[in-house]
Amino acid sequence: MPSQLDDIQIEALMALDQAHDETALRVWHAAHLSKKSPLMMALGDLGKLPKEQRAEIGKCGNEVKRALEAAFAEKEQAIQTAAAVGTDISLSDLKGTLVEVLRQMFGADRQVRLRSSYFPFTEPSIEADLQCTVCDGAGCGLCKYTGWLEIVPGGMIHPQVLRNSGVDPEHFQGFAFGAGLDRLAALQYSIRDIRYLYENDMRFLWQF
Ligand SMILES: [Zn+2]
Repeated sequence: MPSQLDDIQIEALMALDQAHDETALRVWHAAHLSKKSPLMMALGDLGKLPKEQRAEIGKCGNEVKRALEAAFAEKEQAIQTAAAVGTDISLSDLKGTLVEVLRQMFGADRQVRLRSSYFPFTEPSIEADLQCTVCDGAGCGLCKYTGWLEIVPGGMIHPQVLRNSGVDPEHFQGFAFGAGLDRLAALQYSIRDIRYLYENDMRFLWQF
């Protein structure tokens, strides 16, 4: 494969690995599969190449595109968003739910911290961090020596989002949070590389 296309594919897949919520997925899609992405620009420039190279590079480019689209679809499926909408829902409900879910999964002793954050569809937005499951907060490569793992983004659903869904934000509120199920599973079972989950290797799958 031409090295430029190879680089585009590797870089895009590495970036996709780092996308852990729907917002990050949209940003990734715009950066790597939109008309202005390096891949599409390269495909658009095919006409400038010598005739004898066009077919070969065009074929490789389309293969990269299909691979990226498939990886995106897989990731999209893995990220699930949980939401609650009702007449008396506050940030405390979100906090209680998140802390309880994480304690059930990772044990009551595992510390959870909430920080304010920004996402376009929630206001206010928060990020739940989990005390690192590898170093217990001392600092290691997985947590980039912070002692914490960013794990669940969420917040109170923006009133305009409710309005767009036909729900009156004067009477209803809601919270939402998203989590990559693959990432949660990797942390819970101490799986070193998230890609093992997608390789369908029975020696790996039989362990669960
Ligand atoms: Zn750590």
